[in-house]
Amino acid sequence: MIQKTYQFNSIEEMHEGVSAICGTQEYKTAKDKVLLAWVQTWDRDGFALFKQEIFDSFHECTTIGTNHFGSSDILNGRIDGTSGEYGITLSFLYFEKSGASLLDIDPGNREEERQGRELREFLETIPNVKGIYLIPPDYFCSTEIILAALNGVADIPVFGIKTSLLPEYQNFGFSAGGSLKGSRLFALIFHGEKLNIRIRYNLGWTPVGKIMTVTKEENPFFVDEIDDKPASDVYNRYLGLRNDQIIPENLSEFPLIIQRGDMEISRIGIAGPKDGQLLFGAPVYPGDKIRLSYGNPDDLLYEVIEDCIEIADFKPQAGLLIACSNRIMLLKEREREEIDYYRKFMYACAVVYGYAEIYYLNGQGGELNSALVSVAFREEDAENTSPCDMLSYFDSDEQKDNAIVPFSDRMSRFFKEMSNDLLSAAREAEAANKAKSAFYSTVSHEIRTPLNSILGMNEMIRRESHEKEILDYAETISNSGKMLLSLINDILDAEKIAAGKMQIVPVSYDINKTIKELTDMVSVSARSKGLVLKLEKDDDLPSVLIGDETRLRQCTLNLLNNAIKYTEKGTVYFKAGTEPVDDDHVKLTISVRDTGIGIKPEDIEKLIMPFERVDQSRNRNIEGTGLGLNIVKNLLELMGSSLKIESTYGEGSEFSFSVMQKVGKSSVSAENNNDTAADAKTGPFTAPDASVLIVDDTPSNIKIMSLLLKNSLINTDGAVNGKTAILLCEKKKYDLIFIDHMMPEMDGIETLRKIRSDPENINSGSVFVMLTANDEAGMKEMYIKEGFDDYMSKPIDVTELDSILRKYLSK
Ligand code: ADP
Repeated sequence: MIQKTYQFNSIEEMHEGVSAICGTQEYKTAKDKVLLAWVQTWDRDGFALFKQEIFDSFHECTTIGTNHFGSSDILNGRIDGTSGEYGITLSFLYFEKSGASLLDIDPGNREEERQGRELREFLETIPNVKGIYLIPPDYFCSTEIILAALNGVADIPVFGIKTSLLPEYQNFGFSAGGSLKGSRLFALIFHGEKLNIRIRYNLGWTPVGKIMTVTKEENPFFVDEIDDKPASDVYNRYLGLRNDQIIPENLSEFPLIIQRGDMEISRIGIAGPKDGQLLFGAPVYPGDKIRLSYGNPDDLLYEVIEDCIEIADFKPQAGLLIACSNRIMLLKEREREEIDYYRKFMYACAVVYGYAEIYYLNGQGGELNSALVSVAFREEDAENTSPCDMLSYFDSDEQKDNAIVPFSDRMSRFFKEMSNDLLSAAREAEAANKAKSAFYSTVSHEIRTPLNSILGMNEMIRRESHEKEILDYAETISNSGKMLLSLINDILDAEKIAAGKMQIVPVSYDINKTIKELTDMVSVSARSKGLVLKLEKDDDLPSVLIGDETRLRQCTLNLLNNAIKYTEKGTVYFKAGTEPVDDDHVKLTISVRDTGIGIKPEDIEKLIMPFERVDQSRNRNIEGTGLGLNIVKNLLELMGSSLKIESTYGEGSEFSFSVMQKVGKSSVSAENNNDTAADAKTGPFTAPDASVLIVDDTPSNIKIMSLLLKNSLINTDGAVNGKTAILLCEKKKYDLIFIDHMMPEMDGIETLRKIRSDPENINSGSVFVMLTANDEAGMKEMYIKEGFDDYMSKPIDVTELDSILRKYLSK
């Protein structure tokens, strides 16, 4: 085969050249003739003339033509369509033994899957297909969907280009002797037994820095968010660009790189029509992992040299270079260098520049940016082709370059390795953190189980013993047990915060009720120390607020407990008030002030550090871990607030915070008020007619629960696994069923599902309460979603148990 490439600067010039081209020996004798044509121009009428001229002059050649960005001339605006300047490239491939067939497909309305199917069906009718040159109908065509249809078609290389945004510069094509068509999907299918086509994808940029994820897009070309932040943040942050500066000229060195299969492919996103949005030249999908990259002319050219060395071995007879205009921008005055390297081996090779280069081989690839795809053709066996006489010249150049490694080359290597180090360190840390979290949650679960026995049995001693001394011992066990439990909870919370897994879950709650309960909880310990607990509550607190009540309660309780712990005499003031913010929101301020030991100014900063306790000499006898305030600080931060500390050493301290809460509708409050009514307990609760089933694989847990239910005269049955529980449930109706979660073979959730989903089972509609040592935040919601009516954590809190019994067993 022979390749001849011609360059013209106007349609007239091309017109004059036609007879010379058609008069050549190759043109007259070739068995099959293919013409690849491009014109660079902004002149719309001129483009139409160009098309017609090509068709009239070369209707014997199977032809594909497009508009393209031929060189820096067009990028620098030197060719603006008004000057009448053109860059016309005509590259003829003359085949002896092989040939090419043109397929054109009506694109319809974004019907890429159909186009892919039609292309594949056509391929199956042609023997010895060796390569496909593909030109999509327009910029927004998702070529990757078309290419996916070729997956599994044995290693046929596909190459092509998207060149123009504007419909006026549509592609066009015609088969030898056929009619002129435009704006279709064109595929030129090269075939022939002796034909060899080699393609290679060259990039030259090196990914650096962290991996980011595309999280939101309008469509594959318009990306809204990366890592849940406006997409443009990537360039704002790393390159210091304002949104109006996100233009190709500022991005050429730093394209984004996506890992797709084994390939690193580049994407360049310029500022899109919406603020923060990026417009890409080729598709990007949600979930795509992207990194910034860095490149310089030397890196690009080195990769090209590698390619050229391989091409020399291939011994090509014709060549095509499909390149991204971004390379012109980066290479600047060295723009021609990379083309010149190739011309040493494929001296008539044609070059086309565009928006997205198409490369697809063995199921890998798609639309690329910033790339140079080289295509080399040979119609003979390599041995029969004469060796390339330019090789010696090229070799000497190579040797010199080998000795000195360019600075920029070293620098990008440095970036790459640094960034790999950071990545592997981050991965190790992540794995270690996961192991730590798993360890904490297992340990917590394992401590809770025996603690349940200790506290449960102790509760029985307190209920049944009448000896003062024994009751004293029991009181100490109970206090220590509760302290141990709060320590486990603190460690688990701190760990969850550190792992970024603590979630703020807003619910509707009655703030008045919360404050009352908190006051009740601490009033006993205040009274036993001889302290006055004074509640100063605004009268006009909204009845229902929406916020994370659990965490709010936790923070407040911590401050109240500290105030009592670190105060010897005087008063603890508990203040709560709201200020309206807008129609829907209030600022809730909680403050706890004491007349205690106070904190030295230099210690205030330290308090909120984990495990930090200050003034140890004075506080030696006060129990604590130093975790409490750190958790409070972190929880408040998660709720968008912060902890304020004011203190005078020796006089007292005030801890306060304000959180924004939504104001809820008061219907919820009515429900809460009902609860309050139910809370007004009238003596010990009894339900002699009620039957309760306790399902737990630890027999001592069943025993404790039965003992705790003894005074209420409730009938209890126990089951040590899910299977027995189901059998019992088939025979006897229970008013309340407690189920443990983690049980071997069939766990609590599965057991519930089996009973609930069996309409024959008389307990399918019974009340089920999850009773588990798995006390992680969000668990309650999870269990309720799974179909449980309620949730209780182990160790069993007798007050909580009492209210569950009253709620479900009161007649
Ligand atoms: P813990 O109370 O378990 O030691 P915290 O994190 O709750 O841990 O508190 C950290 C330290 O801050 C305490 O050890 C104590 O020195 C100091 N502190 C906290 N609250 C007060 C208070 N109301 N008055 C004086 N010191 C306090």
